[in-house]
Amino acid sequence: MTTIQHLYEIYLRHPGICTDTRKLCKGDLFFALHGANFDGNDFALRALEQGAAYAVVDKDVAPSDPRCLLVEDTLTALQALATHHRRQFDIPVIGITGTNGKTTTKELIRSVLSRKYNLLATEGNLNNHIGVPLMILRLDSSHEMALIEMGAGAPGEIHTLVEIAQPNVGLITNIGRAHLQGFGSIEGVLRTKSELPEYLYAHGGTFLLNSDDPLLVEKWGTQTALTYGQEGNYVSGKVAGHLPYLSVSVGETVVHSQLVGAYNLINILAAIAMGRYFEVPEADIYAGIEGYQPTNNRSQLVRLGDGSQLIVDAYNANPSSMAVAIDNLVDSPARHKVAILGDMLELGEATEEEHRRVLIHLSAHPEVKALLCGPCFRKVAGEAFLAFEKVEDICEYLRRHPLPSESLVLIKGSRGIALEKVLPLFCSGS
Ligand code: ATP
Ligand code: MG
Repeated sequence: MTTIQHLYEIYLRHPGICTDTRKLCKGDLFFALHGANFDGNDFALRALEQGAAYAVVDKDVAPSDPRCLLVEDTLTALQALATHHRRQFDIPVIGITGTNGKTTTKELIRSVLSRKYNLLATEGNLNNHIGVPLMILRLDSSHEMALIEMGAGAPGEIHTLVEIAQPNVGLITNIGRAHLQGFGSIEGVLRTKSELPEYLYAHGGTFLLNSDDPLLVEKWGTQTALTYGQEGNYVSGKVAGHLPYLSVSVGETVVHSQLVGAYNLINILAAIAMGRYFEVPEADIYAGIEGYQPTNNRSQLVRLGDGSQLIVDAYNANPSSMAVAIDNLVDSPARHKVAILGDMLELGEATEEEHRRVLIHLSAHPEVKALLCGPCFRKVAGEAFLAFEKVEDICEYLRRHPLPSESLVLIKGSRGIALEKVLPLFCSGS
């Protein structure tokens, strides 16, 4: 068996890590991980053929090949390697978890902090038990700090990630109803996300607290944390306007973001708090926020030729983010308001109840034309709503019933519903 020490010596000579032979670069250290439908060990020899320097395996696929490094479990070895690597750096590591807005908050913080520091930040959404060690293993001596997103779908998962990343500063964006299948209840969500501040406080770290989140305030109090929110003591700010992008007032300053939705206020305040904590000049903090443009269908605003606008939020959905997105639509001054909503997945036993709640929310706002998509919505919708089984059916409906000009259209659903497929209907020729 290969020890972690030995593996680390090899990693220092071959810091490029690869877990997918399709993305392999010559000289990489290949880790044969296991997925739901594959066993990486089956690809180890191919990785070596393609130029990997070594393959870390947990099945003895080539006993006589010194380039095959046998370990007990490849995932555990990857995590242990990252944990060991992290210990070599005496730098601030920021951990971000929470139900909604982790990537947005992380990107805002990245935009702010990178004006002063050379920062390693989680790429995209690499926030799980594999992504976090992979990100940590990208740390090198040029980095002055690291910003690590941590996602969880079940109890104990944040604990695993903080043991690897060893953050000394962190925040929880919020506590909401998501992944209820794995967490069981919102208390389960709170407990799991709280594994981050537990780690911070146990190791003398600093916790930035969203003082607008009642569950966080109740659990963690406002005494020991730096609080941000509408009444935060460290950073406080309010919505100044939607034009249609959100602007936020902080003291005398109005910051004009490129984000839509009042729910982004707290993400922006978190980034201001982090900027202040790390002594980024105030003007640079605001410039960092104003410079950030969301990507990847996360509350992206698309303006059409006929005066209509789309809020494309097809990246993910859960009951909490759905509720605030609908509120945002309702609060807008748009002439016609349309909600194209897809099922919220991974809610377990709460599925029907949560979809019903969305319908109740919509019923209170008859001015919003709702087009619902997916088997759950279809099951609970009844006659009162237009509900379709598949996104293709909504496309067909929209082809026959085009929306009026000057509409504001919210497009939001879980990733698996792929609501972005409606976009060509709106965007072609506009
Ligand atoms: P994931 O769990 O997939 O990593 P995430 O927590 O990183 O998600 P983002 O990708 O930043 O979240 O945002 C996804 C969507 O969540 C946004 O498009 C928006 O609809 C919603 N959202 C963002 N911030 C908030 C917030 N503070 N409160 C509620 N909903 C939010
Ligand atoms: Mg994310």
